[in-house]
Amino acid sequence: MHWLKQKLQQIKAAGLERKLKLVSGRSAVATVIDGKESINFSGNDYLGLADDPEIAAALIAAVKKYGVGSGASHLVTGHNCEHQLLEEELAEFLGRDRALLFSSGYMANNGIIPALVSAKGAVFQDRLNHASLIDGAKLSGAKMVRYAHGDVDHLQKRYLSLKEGIAQESIVVTDGVFSMDGDIAPLPQLAQFARDKNLPLMVDDAHGLGVIGRSGRGSVDSFGLGQADVPVLMGTLGKAFGVYGAFIAGEHDLIEYLLQTARTYMFTTALPPSVAAATRAALKKVITDEWRRQQLTDLIAYLKESAAEENIELLASSTPIQPLLIGDSSRAVAISQALADQGLIVSAIRPPTVPEGTARLRITISATHTREHIDRLISAIKTVYKADQNG
Ligand code: PMP
Repeated sequence: MHWLKQKLQQIKAAGLERKLKLVSGRSAVATVIDGKESINFSGNDYLGLADDPEIAAALIAAVKKYGVGSGASHLVTGHNCEHQLLEEELAEFLGRDRALLFSSGYMANNGIIPALVSAKGAVFQDRLNHASLIDGAKLSGAKMVRYAHGDVDHLQKRYLSLKEGIAQESIVVTDGVFSMDGDIAPLPQLAQFARDKNLPLMVDDAHGLGVIGRSGRGSVDSFGLGQADVPVLMGTLGKAFGVYGAFIAGEHDLIEYLLQTARTYMFTTALPPSVAAATRAALKKVITDEWRRQQLTDLIAYLKESAAEENIELLASSTPIQPLLIGDSSRAVAISQALADQGLIVSAIRPPTVPEGTARLRITISATHTREHIDRLISAIKTVYKADQNG
């Protein structure tokens, strides 16, 4: 494959080369990355649960009880009582009939969309939806219809421009909280549109669950919406929940149909039972530890104020995702590297993860950050980013 070298060079020349960072410390904001004591502003561990001792103890206890792996897919002999209990507890938490676990959010989205849409249908997607939703739509073979970010009028226009018939077997899909921008989808308007057109609405709430809504019930709940408005709710368990995995929650028939037909549910090994047990412990904390969300809210406000004082313009976002738009990919990488040299990890996010020309530093806040961490970040950005702007 002689062409690989050339392709790799092209990626590098475009400033799009990705490099692994080696973490040798704990899964916490203060850790060791590439051999250096660092403060991590890039993770999705919004509530600081990834390094929680009680959740770790629940995981270890379940390993002692059940062993390490599940040994099979759910529909063979992999469905442990810990999975069952987690599904029931998630459904109850979210006020939905039933929930179904998937091994990851990526796999959930790649299973759900092809199961719910036929090749004759269309998948209406916000232009900034996560890659796993785009890939799920591609797998379905349905027509992909992208609408402008958060723009329900544009969605309406795109819907009307389709030929009669296509729209009937279709779905509207959106991130709840957008992963690279941190803003929240206009869910009441989308739900109204979907209801009017008799289309199901699916929300991927990877970044809303645990963080916003009553007791962390997510973006759908934050608007006072429920199962009738957003029939298909996807949530991930590796972000605010600090563990790993994903689920779909909705009405009985939806879940039963996905269990019968979603290929990424059927043809893969179930999560280890210990991971489900740890997630049950995490769910308890998500519900009870309101102080984590309070801390997060305070720190987000503090970051925004501190940035504004220094004329550092963050994108408009009220969530823990607080991006600083840079534009050029190579510049974003250079700034990210200069911050890493000071022990501050802020990832440069570049195309194809975000649209061309919108490379950014994606700053994320966790409840376990401190004001001192944020002071350090702002002062470093001030010097590095301003020097770069002037240069
Ligand atoms: N959806 C969104 C919006 C995400 O941000 C992510 C993870 N980055 C996923 C889905 C995939 O979830 P997972 O990491 O569990 O595969």
